[in-house]
Amino acid sequence: MFNAILLNKNEDGTTNARITQLDDGQLPADGDVTVRVDYSTINFKDGLAITGKSPVVRKWPMIPGIDGAGEVVASSHPDWKAGDAFILNGWGVGEVHMGCLAQRAKLKGDWLIAQPAGMTSRTAMAIGTAGYTAMLCAMALQEQGVAKDSGDILVTGASGGVGSVAISILSTWGYRVVASTGKLGEADYLKSLGAADVIDRAELSAPGKPLQKERWAGVVDSVGSHTLANALAQTRYGGTVAACGLAQGMDLPTSVAPFILRGVKLIGVDSVMAPKARRVDAWQRLARDLDPAKLDRITQEITLGDALIHAKDILEGKVRGRLVVNVNA
Ligand code: NDP
Repeated sequence: MFNAILLNKNEDGTTNARITQLDDGQLPADGDVTVRVDYSTINFKDGLAITGKSPVVRKWPMIPGIDGAGEVVASSHPDWKAGDAFILNGWGVGEVHMGCLAQRAKLKGDWLIAQPAGMTSRTAMAIGTAGYTAMLCAMALQEQGVAKDSGDILVTGASGGVGSVAISILSTWGYRVVASTGKLGEADYLKSLGAADVIDRAELSAPGKPLQKERWAGVVDSVGSHTLANALAQTRYGGTVAACGLAQGMDLPTSVAPFILRGVKLIGVDSVMAPKARRVDAWQRLARDLDPAKLDRITQEITLGDALIHAKDILEGKVRGRLVVNVNA
């Protein structure tokens, strides 16, 4: 038997989340690798799944947890054997396939990647999908030619998981990063991660003009809605905006002006179905370039029981940085 968070749908459509004991027979039969999960995380999407605030879960009952790291226990997949250290991010796990907010999981070997040399399960989950997505965004800016001397980089949702890791990576790479946050009291924290400047997110969150003063050579946006529209309107000629999130909203009330008058590029970033080679590249870079001292500052460790409470907090924007879940505590 092992401990897990289990989600069920109530008759009125709401979600019931509780900690319970399950056995391997209740895990998905189509998983070809059985794993011991050591750590998982709470991402924004896990918050949506556990609270039922958005229809993230599409199969019931469901163990949430889009991220997991630990050790393979048994495998019929040719690439994996007992004792191998794995990382799992996305692929619909915790949405349509039983997830990793549990002490055990049955996953598909094709979804797993090996932990980079020297990385622990705890570090992998302190990074989690949020951190790996931040790296995908940073890589997108680089690939589009945004260089250290191109100008300032705006990071929105700065105190959140994606934002905190994006600031850390980009500042380590030598970019001048400006953090946009609703938590101005966290300015010292954001500067300790490498932000050169901190602005109030209220400057970006209300409806704005289609073209505004050119400020940003690049943007990492995890907020969407008016914030993304204003970021596009303030992006310098030829600059790039990497968009990955919707913390403010899924809408994008913008115009074609930034694209046709300033050649601004809007790059969409998805972590869930990203190809394996891209994931491996991102995780190798995270192992190499993410300062462990900064990651420590970003990370708070919680238990499986705490996860139910923090799921609500993350949706209310109350969580600073990353929550790593010790599923065995
Ligand atoms: P967090 O909750 O940790 O961070 C989001 C941050 O956005 C908050 O901390 C807050 O930062 C800011 N924020 C929250 N609400 C609002 C609001 N109403 N208006 C403006 N800003 C707001 O979440 P994550 O970092 O884990 O994820 C961020 C977003 O990225 C989510 O929408 C998530 O779904 C998405 N995402 C997408 C992925 C992909 O594959 N495309 C992968 C991972 C995440 P502050 O207080 O500093 O302003």
